[in-house]
Amino acid sequence: MTPIIPAPKAVLASVLMIAALGASAAAADDEQLTVVTTTGMIADTAARIGGDLVDVRGLMGAGIDPHAYRQTRSDIAALTQADVVLWHGLNLEAQMRPFMEQLAERSVVVAVGEAVPEDGLIADPEYDGQPDPHVWMDPELWGHVVDAIEGVLVAEDPDNASVYEANAEAFRAELSELAAYSEETLQSVPENSRVLVTAHDAFAYFGRAYDFEVLGIQGISTQSEAGLQRIAELVDTLVDRDITAVFVESSVSDRNVRALIEGAAAEGHTVKIGGELFSDAMGPEGTYEGTFLGMLDHNVTGISSALGGDAPSRGRLGKLGGEG
Ligand SMILES: [Zn+2]
Repeated sequence: MTPIIPAPKAVLASVLMIAALGASAAAADDEQLTVVTTTGMIADTAARIGGDLVDVRGLMGAGIDPHAYRQTRSDIAALTQADVVLWHGLNLEAQMRPFMEQLAERSVVVAVGEAVPEDGLIADPEYDGQPDPHVWMDPELWGHVVDAIEGVLVAEDPDNASVYEANAEAFRAELSELAAYSEETLQSVPENSRVLVTAHDAFAYFGRAYDFEVLGIQGISTQSEAGLQRIAELVDTLVDRDITAVFVESSVSDRNVRALIEGAAAEGHTVKIGGELFSDAMGPEGTYEGTFLGMLDHNVTGISSALGGDAPSRGRLGKLGGEG
């Protein structure tokens, strides 16, 4: 592939990378390792593990839907010049797969979601043999992704292995604390209210971890169609089970959720929007919700309080709704 940006620095980077012939493109001692990721969840995790030693750029910001995302020209330039490319895999960034597979032939490209052992994965009920990619919804499963990113950074920059290992260990400890908070907070939701209705099926791992039934209007991918029949079925479920709150997602249109609420209202059943959840993208950059831990804290705290549980209004660390 010819470099898109003719700037001398970009050309030089490509030449150096080709010279490395697919071997480690690790930065020189006095330079940061450049890491380019697809989702924000991977970017934040890499930044936590890499600290000052890495320069991380996530391509998909707040509100971006990874199922539908296609790499832009500037993304291609960043991806081809990076020392390390981290993407999720598991059929999440379905539109980017051919590009990533091609890039992997000459650069360090790792599908970190695929570090989750197969027996931890949930199958996509709509597509035979495809996994549900939304593993970040269970902080304990995300630990495998932390291990994978730690492994890549150590391999590319072994001189700083002890720093990456210590940072990864600290992040794993925070994930455990978040998991414990989630467990406790979600258990306070009355048992018959533990039903999560969202725009698309992003919460199966959440449901398995915390014993919630999860019902998405659209399937695992936002690219699947939500038929009128699916909406009618869900309206019946809301009415029959007296479910009074459904959730919108920051990276998916709320059109179907509103159709659901209107359908229930037509049958005399009032349903409110329980809040906006971060399903496939984190909150705005620079906020607590724009971090991996803050994103999950926001979801857990919001779900619990909307469904009658007992959750601190500003979350696990008192940081929700405030500055990053
Ligand atoms: Zn999704």
